[in-house]
Amino acid sequence: MDLLLDSVLGAIGKTPLVALDRLRVAEGVEPRILAKLEYFSPGASVKDRAALRMLEEAEKSGALLPGQTVIELTSGNMGIGLAVACAVKGYRFTAVMSRGNSRERWRVMKALGAKVVLVPQAKGGVPGKVTGEDLARVEKKAQELARRDGAFRVDQFKNPANPAAHRDGTGEEIWDQSEGKVDNFVAIAGTGGTFVGVSSALKKHNPNIGCFVVEPAGAPVLAGGRVTSPRHKIQGTGYALVPEIWDPSLCDGYLTVTDAEAVRTARLLASREGILAGFSGGANVAASMKLARKLSGEKTVVTIVPDTGLKYLSTDLFP
Ligand code: PMP
Repeated sequence: MDLLLDSVLGAIGKTPLVALDRLRVAEGVEPRILAKLEYFSPGASVKDRAALRMLEEAEKSGALLPGQTVIELTSGNMGIGLAVACAVKGYRFTAVMSRGNSRERWRVMKALGAKVVLVPQAKGGVPGKVTGEDLARVEKKAQELARRDGAFRVDQFKNPANPAAHRDGTGEEIWDQSEGKVDNFVAIAGTGGTFVGVSSALKKHNPNIGCFVVEPAGAPVLAGGRVTSPRHKIQGTGYALVPEIWDPSLCDGYLTVTDAEAVRTARLLASREGILAGFSGGANVAASMKLARKLSGEKTVVTIVPDTGLKYLSTDLFP
């Protein structure tokens, strides 16, 4: 641990990897499940890493110039990560977000100095359940504003620096912290940056590590399944679209979780492990337990807790 950091950006990443032994035993699961707690970063999510790396690469390439405005579409966490990085680096930042995401998220971005533009959900939209259609509206607005303001558009769904941050950071850290004792990796995908980056790092060390993507039960598009219900509670993920940075060659299998499983597991993580996760953390751990039940006892499954339950206090996650 560094004693003194030049700025809070030095506190991004290097997050704890924690054995979920109490939950595992209570649920009768034998293999070890390890969770990377990404809410320890300054913006309290996994997206801080990608936010910082995308700005750094853009500065290096000249795509982002001093004094330029930064703009991005976000479900909240990327916006919070960018707001943190832009505050330190001195860029103005505009976040474009669906009104369907939780209130805490845009209030946090505003507190960090960002300008927040909220885009109404598509017809019939349900607050707390942001669909691919909602996201398409946000994308349109972000493009419009970027053109109008001559802003630097981060483009997290396409930007190769997004998975690179997880390949060089999250993935390498998991390998080191587990001392290479990883058999399987499990993660849900929003942009796919976390899954693609971590899986490529782990497979480089050991091609036998099995990497499993998690999808909402009603929208298993990466698995090639039918979308029966694109509306789910796992904000920031499962948009019922194949993200551009998705790489099927890294994916060894597909898992699904229901809203009820994600919520139940997030509550168990809080009460059994003292880990206050968001919906996607609940989903990742629920899926990891499903996989673990099919494995022999000496195996290890690693997963991600992407953000904190504190970002969902306005929802029904923790009544
Ligand atoms: N969980 C949450 C809460 C998120 O906000 C995100 C990112 N939108 C993810 C998981 C998925 O991360 P990625 O974009 O790297 O796939």
